[in-house]
Amino acid sequence: MTLGSTPQESTDFPARMVWLVGAGPGDPELLTRKAERLIRSATVVFHDALVGPGVLALAGDARLVHVGKRAGRHSRDQASIDRLLVEAALAGERVVRLKGGDPSIFGRAAEELGACRSAGVAVAICPGITAASAAAAGLGRSLTLRGTARRLSFVTAHARAGDRLELDWQALADPGSTTAFYMGKAAAGEIAENLIAAGLPGSTPVAAVQNASLPDEQRITTRLDLLAIAVKAFAGDGPALVLVGAAVGPAGGNVRTARHDEVAA
Ligand code: SAH
Repeated sequence: MTLGSTPQESTDFPARMVWLVGAGPGDPELLTRKAERLIRSATVVFHDALVGPGVLALAGDARLVHVGKRAGRHSRDQASIDRLLVEAALAGERVVRLKGGDPSIFGRAAEELGACRSAGVAVAICPGITAASAAAAGLGRSLTLRGTARRLSFVTAHARAGDRLELDWQALADPGSTTAFYMGKAAAGEIAENLIAAGLPGSTPVAAVQNASLPDEQRITTRLDLLAIAVKAFAGDGPALVLVGAAVGPAGGNVRTARHDEVAA
């Protein structure tokens, strides 16, 4: 393989192909260069509700189709999205399926990959910056912490209306880890209750970030037993992520390494 020798534009996005593209958390500057190129070359872009105008503006002349789903407001079911992608590709389009964050994290990418493959449609993924990374960046915290948070879990806190969350709370109540709860705002109380019941101290640092990376980003840092009250302070109903663990607390911003001089040298 020779890096950089082939102009990718002509080879990796032919007609009749689908790209699942990560749009990142919202700030258009957090889009990858590859995502931008694919969006610019598409003839049709199917996008989520979470993909903002700054990113969609790159689509130029491509047809924009909103297929977004927000909690409780399903505009299309997954099977019909799968069908739309396949039909557009078979009709000869260059199809971008643009998703918030990274397509492979709570993005229903598996269904869309499967639908394309079983229809004989070429499909590929362009990764994106996931919301947890943007939230940590906004907080000025690291998601992992040497010696303290050795494990990072991405968890969905979305349950069907009326159902309780079915998560392995025992495993998540590990003080040596950081947990990012996607779709966790409505379930903040349930998250705190279950983690505390499973043994995580109520004083464990938590953070919640709404609209991470966007101009109206809102951040809250507090302790686990105050999480439910704290998220009520968010204005508006933007997407929000809940981070739990020592890494997002004060300790995460005040780490001194013993070998600081050597590292800096
Ligand atoms: N594939 C996406 C996640 C889709 S699930 C990713 O990798 O980021 C949708 C959830 O992602 C939202 O409910 C919220 O929890 C989180 N999310 C997406 N964008 C966000 C943002 N800008 N700020 C905070 N949370 C966000």
